[in-house]
Amino acid sequence: MIVILKNGISESEKENVKSVLREKGFIVKEIVGASETVLGAVGNAHVDPRSIEILDGVSSVVPISKPYKLASRELKKENTVVDVGPVRIGSNSIAVIAGPCAVESEDQMMRIAEKVREAGAVILRGGAFKPRTSPYSFQGLGIKGLEYLKKAGDAFGMPITSEVVSPKDVEVMKDYVDMFQIGARNMQNFELLKEVGKTGMPVLLKRGIAATIEEWLMAAEYIMASGSDKVVLCERGIRTYEKMTRNTLDCSAIPVIQKLTHLPVIGDPSHATGMRDLVSPMALALVAAGASGLMVEVHDTPEKALSDGPQSLYPEQFERLMRDIEALAPVVGKSVERVPRIIPNSIRDESAKKGESDGLVVAYQGERGAFSELASRQAFPTDIKVLPEKTFRDVFKAVSSGEAGYGVVPIENTLGGTLYENYDLLRTEENIEVVGEVTVRVIHNLIVNKGVKMEDIKHVYSHPQGLAQCKEFLSKKLPGATLHPFFDTAGAVSYIKENHLMDSAAIAGAPAAAYHDMDILQSGIETDAKNYTRFFVITRREKAKIYRSSIKINRFAISFSVADEPGSLFHVLEILNENHLNMKKLESRPILGKPWEYALIAEIEIEDEKKLPEILEKIKEHTVSFRLLGTYAAAH
Ligand code: PEP
Ligand code: MN
Repeated sequence: MIVILKNGISESEKENVKSVLREKGFIVKEIVGASETVLGAVGNAHVDPRSIEILDGVSSVVPISKPYKLASRELKKENTVVDVGPVRIGSNSIAVIAGPCAVESEDQMMRIAEKVREAGAVILRGGAFKPRTSPYSFQGLGIKGLEYLKKAGDAFGMPITSEVVSPKDVEVMKDYVDMFQIGARNMQNFELLKEVGKTGMPVLLKRGIAATIEEWLMAAEYIMASGSDKVVLCERGIRTYEKMTRNTLDCSAIPVIQKLTHLPVIGDPSHATGMRDLVSPMALALVAAGASGLMVEVHDTPEKALSDGPQSLYPEQFERLMRDIEALAPVVGKSVERVPRIIPNSIRDESAKKGESDGLVVAYQGERGAFSELASRQAFPTDIKVLPEKTFRDVFKAVSSGEAGYGVVPIENTLGGTLYENYDLLRTEENIEVVGEVTVRVIHNLIVNKGVKMEDIKHVYSHPQGLAQCKEFLSKKLPGATLHPFFDTAGAVSYIKENHLMDSAAIAGAPAAAYHDMDILQSGIETDAKNYTRFFVITRREKAKIYRSSIKINRFAISFSVADEPGSLFHVLEILNENHLNMKKLESRPILGKPWEYALIAEIEIEDEKKLPEILEKIKEHTVSFRLLGTYAAAH
């Protein structure tokens, strides 16, 4: 059952409720949500709910209707994010696990680890204990295999996962893996689940070959009841009558299970299909279905692989797949880390060294829950402290003064166009550089106070862009409503909340509704779904180097002005042409204090970063003023 606590409950009252429940024989878990704290009381015990409801500090008691309790969405409304070393699974970015089916040798592991890491995988896999259908097939290298796997993981900065097949191996494996893998064949090996659960470590739980979603969740419940909350589910195909594929990938299981549980779910297109050619399309299908990550088998000589060669991708195919995932991710409101989160960690270490005890502070313009906050979290998929600022200038100021380590500012929207103010600030704030780029899909929602229905709405508040982008919906569904332009979308949400407006709605992103605990009456109300905003990540010059040290630069942005004479801009463009550089964007801005003079801002692709200094020198020769605004990895 779920014991919902009153907001003002004291620590001693809470302890009392917990101990009463424990005395009755319940396992008690405290879950702190955005709007309420609850105690999950599960187990074989029975109690009259009324005897709990009368305890001090208890608001109400609700039974959990499902057979799985700790795993159920009823108990915990917010998504669980599982930390595997520095990698997070279940956040807004797609975590890709890759590696060979089996560890075959140290050399093989090193070679493949380098390749998958380079392509963007964040966790390394490799079986050391292989549960093979035939006793005569390769059974794995055992502990030696784990040693090789760990060595490769350490060498390339990736946490590792490997399958555990026997309860007796759990103890030794603990020292090697960052996440246990429970294979499909062992999904209902309850002794194994209990033993693994007791470690409290992350567990990747594959769906059983013929398991229903409920049985799968019951297996997760075993792990959770034994002591680990860190369960990641993995859909890997189920046995059906179809023989054209190794298994039948149940893509719909992804959104179905997300309704039933708060645990993250990823997909394994390799075991689901059994055939290399089918892996990438099904990987993309899993991402489109909402999977929080993927597990993909990759081998550099799959024809010689000791297991699952036919379904293993060549490294080049995997690289291609990662690029496709990157392009698809914004459609489902996610991003992909191209490199493990070693980056944010190195940044965090560095800020800790400087005595920035709060860790990583990221400033953005807008209120809590704004799209800029979403972009900030996408740019730093780690625990950040967000610093909402009133204006873009304030964001630059916060970064420049050191109050924030980084800032995230919008540069352009696919429907609304360029945000010139930020280009201008970039041009003039000399100690600030661009170091990163993120793209966020803008999904608008009609957000209301709890209880408000469509027919109650007489007023709609949002940023003018938000109102304009939802014109069709507003004229069809709310033709009589008065539209109120507001300074920001998330601000509109907090405004109708604070004023308890029961005849009003706000248009904003889902995080704003979640942050203020409001209802979404309708989601995706924008006229044109191809609505993306591109943001720059900015930082102080001295920090820029550290940020860039672990990313692959493929873009640079410059601002410059040219002489007022024929052919002056042409000379600059000629340099780009000679070096086969593709210009992605060119803007022109008036220069303050110099009427009728313009600064040009260009964003340019570059493949080989090493050539940049020479190219910049050449450009400078043909310009009157010049500034490198930054170098970064493009979001696509
Ligand atoms: C594996 O991941 O190597 C494996 C054996 O997968 P499954 O348990 O899904 O068959
Ligand atoms: Mn395999």
